[in-house]
Amino acid sequence: MAEVIPPDAKVLLKEELKKLRDDIFFWVFTEKGVNQDRARFTISLIKELVSLSPKIHLKRLTPQKAKVYGVTVSPSVLINPDRYRIAFLGAPTGEEGRGLLITMLLVSQGRGILSDESSERLKGLKEDREVVVLVSPTCPYCPQQVSLAVSAAVEAPERVSVKVASIVENRDLVDRYGITSVPSTVIDGNLVATGVQPEEAFVDSLFTGSPPKVKVVEPTKEVVERDVVIVGAGPAGLTAAIYAERAGLDTVVLEKGAIGGQVAITPVVENYPGFTRIPGKTLMDMMAQQAMQYAEIHLSEEVLDVKRRRDGRFLVITNRGRYLSRALILCTGATHRRLGVPGEERFLGRGVSYCATCDGYFFKGKKVIMVGGGNSAVTEALYLDSIGVEVTLVHRRDKLRAEKKLQESLFQRGIPVLWNTVVEEIKGEEMVTEVRLRDLKENRSYTMKTDGVFIAVGYEPVNTVGKKLGLELTEDGYIKVDSAQRTSLPGVYAAGDITGGIKQIVTAVGQGAVAAVSAFEDLTTPYWKSSSEKS
Ligand code: NAP
Repeated sequence: MAEVIPPDAKVLLKEELKKLRDDIFFWVFTEKGVNQDRARFTISLIKELVSLSPKIHLKRLTPQKAKVYGVTVSPSVLINPDRYRIAFLGAPTGEEGRGLLITMLLVSQGRGILSDESSERLKGLKEDREVVVLVSPTCPYCPQQVSLAVSAAVEAPERVSVKVASIVENRDLVDRYGITSVPSTVIDGNLVATGVQPEEAFVDSLFTGSPPKVKVVEPTKEVVERDVVIVGAGPAGLTAAIYAERAGLDTVVLEKGAIGGQVAITPVVENYPGFTRIPGKTLMDMMAQQAMQYAEIHLSEEVLDVKRRRDGRFLVITNRGRYLSRALILCTGATHRRLGVPGEERFLGRGVSYCATCDGYFFKGKKVIMVGGGNSAVTEALYLDSIGVEVTLVHRRDKLRAEKKLQESLFQRGIPVLWNTVVEEIKGEEMVTEVRLRDLKENRSYTMKTDGVFIAVGYEPVNTVGKKLGLELTEDGYIKVDSAQRTSLPGVYAAGDITGGIKQIVTAVGQGAVAAVSAFEDLTTPYWKSSSEKS
């Protein structure tokens, strides 16, 4: 089998693995004749890791021994099972592989990523908990939820066991819990969350064994001072961070979810100069790596409130802490627009999805519709088709908005399009089974059987922070900026999708750079002060 870790990644990984503290013992279980290709992949991956560090070891498990550890899926990987109860059920490909590498680093350090408060809380966990995180190879958010679960297993090994189950080999779990979206987290047999959870919510679920109740988290009282706080770690925020730090501004990036924004879930990007064709997630990982060399990036940290103080500085209150900054760069992006039809909310995660990259795998060999006619809908329809999903595009007009190149690919691949058609209702019992469509030209409604409904009908601004500051907005709710990315409030800048416009990666990074340079210039010579006041 060809090497599974690319040569350049091996070089980086070898360096990273020098940081391993404790030895890592991968116990791999494979069963003869079952999932052979994926079993071979798993063995090759672990062997290559072994070749990169003397601290990594491979051991093969017999079926009898595997059963003792509660493992029957082939292939499976246990990590340091003498100490922890952590297993990967299924071949760790793509993003699952990233989850495995993160797990390896956490296990070796004997310390998770949980905050001191959460670690302290975990010490009070009195009951045993079995956590299952369902993941897919293409879900960019999954490693984040995996790191939360694994952290709990590392910090409370006598109480918490974790199984990271790939949806590829664990269809029984997918069916049992009726899941069509990842990551999905099951604790003691109860589905507690779909999507990445904030750390506090995950720890709550560990205590109750049920979905977390919404509660206000008291942020720490200590105030951290920074020159610049950037909100959002998509292309705009990451670029702003690089430019701000390089200009000498002490910068922190706060991101409520995962790195990469919308691009991280874009299957393929073909119009970012320098890359003919690159998965969105890979591009964002590269940007993030570069940004992390300069600035602090805090994930799962949500801005709850922001106030401009009399001295012109901003007090930013998050679920984790408080920051006092001299400038704010808002790169909060945009989120999926909803169709607003009956059934859309009810079947979310049960056949309705806004992320083909994350959830497409569930529908391999099944029938779905993709609603929309823009670049997103066509890119994602092409992706679904490429992984073996039977997809039909449903568009409300007789012309697509998507760029010509994408349209050509769509037609070349023979993906059917229902023109002049809208979704009126999404129907089913537990899961989506059909949609009621309306042919606008013929003015008639009809039902169509479908296993899934993917929706890509544009975006809406994520603008709670901008609104709290009272910034001037466009009619559609985007933040108004001038050519230097300045907003209506001195010291506040905005970049990327939150400013509206054509929403391209290349424009977002450009605006991020401009915003950071403007912040630097204004902090050195504030344009809003009279010349006598300038420092
Ligand atoms: P978009 O360009 O705004 O397109 C939204 C599509 O959904 C349009 O075709 C629109 O129909 C349709 N639509 C809107 N509301 C609808 C409703 N209620 N019911 C049915 N259909 C509805 O959104 P997008 O495709 O998500 O793209 C957003 C931005 O990201 C764009 O600027 C796009 O260029 C960019 N993007 C770029 C790439 C790329 O360059 N490769 C990839 C993804 C996204 P009408 O056409 O009739 O208005």
